[in-house]
Amino acid sequence: MVFPFNSVEDFKIELTDEHELFRKAVREFVDSKVMPRWQEIERTNRIPEDILNEMKEQGFFGVGFPEEYGGQGGGQLMSAILMEEIARAVPSLAVTIGVNHLFAIPILLFGTEDQKKKYVTPVASGDAQGAHANTEPTGGSDVAGIQTRARKENDHYIITGRKVFISGAADADYLVVSARTNPPREDKRWWGISVFIVEKDYPGLKIGQQFKVMGMRGEQPYEVILDEVKVPAENLVGPENEGFKVIVTTYDHTRIGIAAQAVGIAQAAFEKALNYALQRETFGQPLIQHQLITGKIADMYMKLEAARLLTYWAATLADKGRREFIIAASLAKAFATEAAEWIARQAIQIHGGYGVDTETGVERYLRDAIITTIYEGTNEIQRLTIVRMLVRQVFGLKI
Ligand SMILES: Cc1cc2nc3c(=O)[nH]c(=O)nc-3n(C[C@H](O)[C@H](O)[C@H](O)COP(=O)(O)OP(=O)(O)OC[C@H]3O[C@@H](n4cnc5c(N)ncnc54)[C@H](O)[C@@H]3O)c2cc1C
Repeated sequence: MVFPFNSVEDFKIELTDEHELFRKAVREFVDSKVMPRWQEIERTNRIPEDILNEMKEQGFFGVGFPEEYGGQGGGQLMSAILMEEIARAVPSLAVTIGVNHLFAIPILLFGTEDQKKKYVTPVASGDAQGAHANTEPTGGSDVAGIQTRARKENDHYIITGRKVFISGAADADYLVVSARTNPPREDKRWWGISVFIVEKDYPGLKIGQQFKVMGMRGEQPYEVILDEVKVPAENLVGPENEGFKVIVTTYDHTRIGIAAQAVGIAQAAFEKALNYALQRETFGQPLIQHQLITGKIADMYMKLEAARLLTYWAATLADKGRREFIIAASLAKAFATEAAEWIARQAIQIHGGYGVDTETGVERYLRDAIITTIYEGTNEIQRLTIVRMLVRQVFGLKI
């Protein structure tokens, strides 16, 4: 096959009837229970408790998690379909699911059996919520640059620092937190970081200000303050000082979910624009008959389907355990989020004045899509990852 993938197997998307049945079930739930509430969620900036409870009953919090830890199984592709369908109605609800993944995936990949049983099981069943606290006031892209400190004292670590933009922190029962346990080595800037599970009731943990971001209303991020928080040594996730790998490997997996969120936003914006272009008449004919609008609709659809294919492809590669999924996941995240932003912008334009009226629900797609280009690795960072991984895989070189 073509550079840098070697086999036709690498290009397969393994969608089955089971995936489609699952999509139908999620769509039915979303169309009847979530879509009619989008204005309430925008207005209150909260996801209603009854929606979360129903999602729990449906087992949606466990999709993609192993059954042995209370999950529903299904892998990354099933999880991407869930995220896509939920984001098509209310993207911030997909963030609520996503932050649980950000909490559980580092534990599933690097944690102990006890940690998986104790912390992943309640999150997968929806009985508890997790959050992921890595970003700091001094920076989020540069994971090796974090300032939060953890020092070991007997059988505990004492953590002090400040995290910002932490989604779901106010509702979280548990957080994974990154902290420096040792200074970096001269040759390895990333060395010396460790990851811990922190429970919300540990003394010294405080949830600070809420950030009022432009979109994803319903799931706004928070500041998290750690003031000499005493964490049992058994809550260390993965080897001490190797936490950088824990964090970046987690994002390799979770960014497929962000691509899927973007596909859901793009799908919603596209559907709305297409319907409007069929109904709205100007100069005696429907908008869709005006060639400038026809072209826009065609370009929106092109980007939407390309984004979906990249996302499902990355998820399939991840489910097969292929290391190349990392390139595919970054391609999908950067492409799908930028496609969603562009498609949302065109949807506004096609709606004219109604596109910028907050009551029509069109402009919110743009506000939400822009956020997907920023979190879990900005799209600049995705571009760095794509080229680094490509050069490493093809030429065996580190750049
Ligand atoms: C709504 C929302 C929810 C979030 N939820 C969470 C969460 O739950 N947990 C969490 O830990 N974080 C979360 N974040 C934080 C998010 O991951 C960071 O904002 C993001 O990683 C970027 O970090 P930064 O904002 O510090 O920007 P910086 O890292 O300061 O970057 C600023 C700009 O410079 C660019 N840049 C940086 N380095 C390079 C480089 N080497 N080459 C080229 N360009 C570069 C970036 O792409 C960006 O455009 C959330 C953010 C938002 C907006």
